[in-house]
Amino acid sequence: MRVRIIDADRVLTGTGEVISPGTVVTADDLIAWVGTTGARPADWTGHRVERIRLPGATILPGLIDAHVHLGFGCAVHPRPSIQHSTRLEVAATIRRALRTLAAAGITTVRDLGAPRYVDVDTLATTTSRTRVLKATIPLTIPGGHCYSLGGTVTTDIEIGRLVAANAARGADWIKVMVTGGFTVSGTSSPYEPQFSDHQLRVIVAVARDHGLPVAAHAHGTAGIRQAVEAGVDSIEHCTWMTDDGGFEFDLGLVDAIAARQIMVCPTINHEALIARGRLAWAVRREQLTVMLGAGVRLLPGTDSGIPRTPHDKYTHSFPAYLNLGLTPVEVIDLATRRAAELLRIADRTGTLTAGLSADLIAVPGDPTQDLTVLSTPILAMTAGDLHYPVAVPTAEEYTRR
Ligand SMILES: [Zn+2]
Repeated sequence: MRVRIIDADRVLTGTGEVISPGTVVTADDLIAWVGTTGARPADWTGHRVERIRLPGATILPGLIDAHVHLGFGCAVHPRPSIQHSTRLEVAATIRRALRTLAAAGITTVRDLGAPRYVDVDTLATTTSRTRVLKATIPLTIPGGHCYSLGGTVTTDIEIGRLVAANAARGADWIKVMVTGGFTVSGTSSPYEPQFSDHQLRVIVAVARDHGLPVAAHAHGTAGIRQAVEAGVDSIEHCTWMTDDGGFEFDLGLVDAIAARQIMVCPTINHEALIARGRLAWAVRREQLTVMLGAGVRLLPGTDSGIPRTPHDKYTHSFPAYLNLGLTPVEVIDLATRRAAELLRIADRTGTLTAGLSADLIAVPGDPTQDLTVLSTPILAMTAGDLHYPVAVPTAEEYTRR
């Protein structure tokens, strides 16, 4: 058994507790003990015990990004790149994304769509311990949004087959392109539903048969409405846009989303606050403020992998959440414990609790005072796999002094 004893000025357990000075003990891939440094039992001794001292640092749970695409390389023109990429090239992109995530302290992601099971095949052969909740191949219509990922379905039988195939390959979620989109590929409209009401109900019903939740990509209001009526579990983007350049922000529908406890992942990235054009922050802020006020469950995620959205900029999206009125403590909670709870993995990760996965980061200073320190982790651990992020070249030295 490989034991690590990590001391820091502060430990945020993620359960609301702040322990100072605090210690986290990990044993192989699990958290073995969390508490006040002076109160640590002397159970762990011997040459397989590694001591790590982090003066001035805070240890907290690893971060959870609930909307990523490991197989997309953040290129400005992913449309030709995905379509013309070989499986080996996509696999290389996924491996690079996993390394990037690990160094950034992002220990769990929900991957909402990759081409033709390259995600599954790559993850099966990688040493990465990043927890990936996979949607595998998203369902779409012929020529529709992201059709090049291989998920075109038309009939009920085809829907049943693809959902069953995804489930058999280990999908944790079923992703459906309820409306068209703006990136990657497809000729359908982001403002209109791609599927009929019947088809979407079938998709949700078949996913339920396989015990899988459904994530619905939806921009326009008609698509959001269709997704709510079909009973999906999460709505991605949820931008309420109309094809005349405006918005149809339906308050009754917002209440329905809240009442049915459907999660909304508004895909807020590191440039959200400075976004221009249709989805300027002032517009999104207004929508999100009303949705939060109505009690809609917010799921944090970046859509990383899409153009100009690198996999390691998650913490750079946090100022947008502060701008929505959340406190730093609430933002940390949202990106750790709350995200784990909403994704139904709180029994495995999201808090620093004995018995859970050793998913944690250490950052210089106190993130409850200054969230920006989350962007420069000095240590990251994914299921016991230790990283000294390259962002701070002297980190390893720093942690051992
Ligand atoms: Zn996406």
